[in-house]
Amino acid sequence: MHNKNKMYEFEKIAIIAVIVMFALIIGLVLFATKDSGRPSTDAPSVGQLDGSEEGSGDGNGLLSGVPSVAPEKEIEFVSVDVDNTKLNDGALILVNQDHKYTADISSSLENLYSYNQKEGNTTDWYGLVNVKQSLKKEVLDALNDMYRDFYAALESTDVTITKTFVDSETQQQEYESIYESADVGKKPYLQAGGCSEHQTGLAFNLRAPDASLSWFKDNCWKYGFVARYPEGKETVTYVKDEPNHFRYVGVPHALYMKLNKLVMEEYLGLLETKTSTSRLKLDVGTADKYETYACKAENGATTKIMVPAENSGWSYMISGTNNGYFVVTIYQLQG
Ligand SMILES: [Zn+2]
Repeated sequence: MHNKNKMYEFEKIAIIAVIVMFALIIGLVLFATKDSGRPSTDAPSVGQLDGSEEGSGDGNGLLSGVPSVAPEKEIEFVSVDVDNTKLNDGALILVNQDHKYTADISSSLENLYSYNQKEGNTTDWYGLVNVKQSLKKEVLDALNDMYRDFYAALESTDVTITKTFVDSETQQQEYESIYESADVGKKPYLQAGGCSEHQTGLAFNLRAPDASLSWFKDNCWKYGFVARYPEGKETVTYVKDEPNHFRYVGVPHALYMKLNKLVMEEYLGLLETKTSTSRLKLDVGTADKYETYACKAENGATTKIMVPAENSGWSYMISGTNNGYFVVTIYQLQG
């Protein structure tokens, strides 16, 4: 009896010891999980999510097994020196009556006629008003991509590119030739030499039937274009009667401006309030990530700009604004 009791006692102690050890192990595991992920590993850390996380709705391009809400990892930024001569270079330069454009961009232009001939597609193609029309190469590529999709959708060839790059002198001559005969109410909206976006090689006018023009207005953002002078924004843009003028800014910016009904003047004003630590997220509806912010140019030859570090997994582009700022667009493409 006595012996049996002792045995029972021993079993009880053994069971308690096992329970305590088990509890200790669980405690240790929980502690270790809580602390990992923050410093240098890529492990998801739920605690780092902030309220501004973009929606995870579509899940496009996400690998199975990856959590649908990706963990937000702080991006490491470093400073680079950018030449201030780049202030009037890039897809986000602002040109209007208050911001004249004087840069000579002739060496970066591509002739539409000869380029399209080279592409070997002389039927089913948009019309040109002369063989001298030119645009910046990346803009022409975007225009051609847009036109191909337009043609596939509507099979209309009744589209003509009426105005492309214009140099400052030609713009001034055009202005003088129409100024005298223009209605008094329209005179303030006419663009003298230096004040036209056409001098940047980033803009073109298009002539097409209404249904076609609507397609371009709805879809142009996919190719990086904005309908630059929408009705109702004349007091901001100081351009009237140019509903067919398209301007290249790049896809993420074009979509944000379209969704938020902002013209360039307003959008750049918004970006000027953003910094590398208060970035604007640009959702393009895919897993690709874009964020943007601005940096005021410093006096002198260069400006120090914060950009993602080389090993951060983020790439970046910098554009001047022709208005004393640089805009940085950082991006992470998912394959
Ligand atoms: Zn125009």
